[in-house]
Amino acid sequence: MPVPITIENVTKNFGANQVLKGISAQIAAGELFFLLGPSGCGKTTLLRAVAGLNEPDGGRILAGERDVTHLPPHKRDMGMVFQSYALWPHMTLRENVAFGLEMRGVKKAEAEPRVRKALEMVKLADRADSKPNELSGGQQQRVALARALVIEPQCLLLDEPLSNLDAKLRIEMRTEIRRICKEAGLTAIYVTHDQKEALSIADRVAILDQGRLLQVGTPQEVYIRPNSRFVAQFIGETTFVEGTVKARGKGRIVVETATGDWEAETETPWTEGRTVWLSIRPEAVRLHTDRQEGANLFTGQLHATVYLGEVAQHAVALAGGVILKALEMRPRVVARDDERAEVRLWINPGDVQVLGE
Ligand code: ATP
Repeated sequence: MPVPITIENVTKNFGANQVLKGISAQIAAGELFFLLGPSGCGKTTLLRAVAGLNEPDGGRILAGERDVTHLPPHKRDMGMVFQSYALWPHMTLRENVAFGLEMRGVKKAEAEPRVRKALEMVKLADRADSKPNELSGGQQQRVALARALVIEPQCLLLDEPLSNLDAKLRIEMRTEIRRICKEAGLTAIYVTHDQKEALSIADRVAILDQGRLLQVGTPQEVYIRPNSRFVAQFIGETTFVEGTVKARGKGRIVVETATGDWEAETETPWTEGRTVWLSIRPEAVRLHTDRQEGANLFTGQLHATVYLGEVAQHAVALAGGVILKALEMRPRVVARDDERAEVRLWINPGDVQVLGE
């Protein structure tokens, strides 16, 4: 049965290096929960603490009601999948998957149907007698998953499971991993630095930086409402425009910037005179607008374009030296190298995110 996992104020130091600075998170039973962050932020250290592969210096980890903080890995009922599949080359897939059950003293008669079921789940039942070296990378990673699933864990822990695969296979395997977790009803914690991987399949995402948890939310919440500049630029593309709060109205503020005045919808009571950063997603920039008046209408110069067929990624130079990233579906004008084209653009105040520090 899947259980909720509670992480309570977990800290970890390696010598003088404070790698986890008091992390708390509540992961629901059956949830696919991502730990996302740049290299070295402490994701793997946190996952290993949940697995029992390293012991926190402070805080607690609960699996359901059970405090597992100081239990060895094999007493935790957690399955692990790593970046490297580490399959036994001399064993068949069936034997590889059965190995963990044998180690746990499960009798052959009971093990056989469980191994079959695990291989079926990863769609490799017909290859049960193959050896790992007869398989593709993606198939080998499926075996590694089956090996974790067969022990019927309460929680599945995945550490960059797709990073050894090529780009196309990674995308296929993403949805496969979600399907498997949901079919098995598993609580799963998945570590990655790939924001697309996280956004595409997570139930919720936790963004870490330098041993701290900055934000937890659904993919839409963290993308549309990032709570900090770090999260905004780490999840997706954005342009920051620095400015000063000039006026406040109901649910709306005016911000004075080098490109002119901007309006943004916000429920936060930003005080007049304070410095803020406006975060503008490329897809929020409406190029070639017909609007004649209203807020957030600007004229800019297309500065450089990456033309990708159905879509173009533009850099638009605004007044004050701000270069706005803008995405255009079915692009009308493509500016290459030193070409320049003037464009009128509009950004809906509801699409402008206001951020503090
Ligand atoms: P990556 O995406 O590169 O794997 P990460 O976010 O998973 O990064 P961790 O592997 O958790 O990061 O490492 C966080 C920090 O802890 C790093 O500075 C790393 O050097 C350090 N660290 C991790 N494990 C150990 C260890 N066993 N001994 C000493 N320092 C360690």
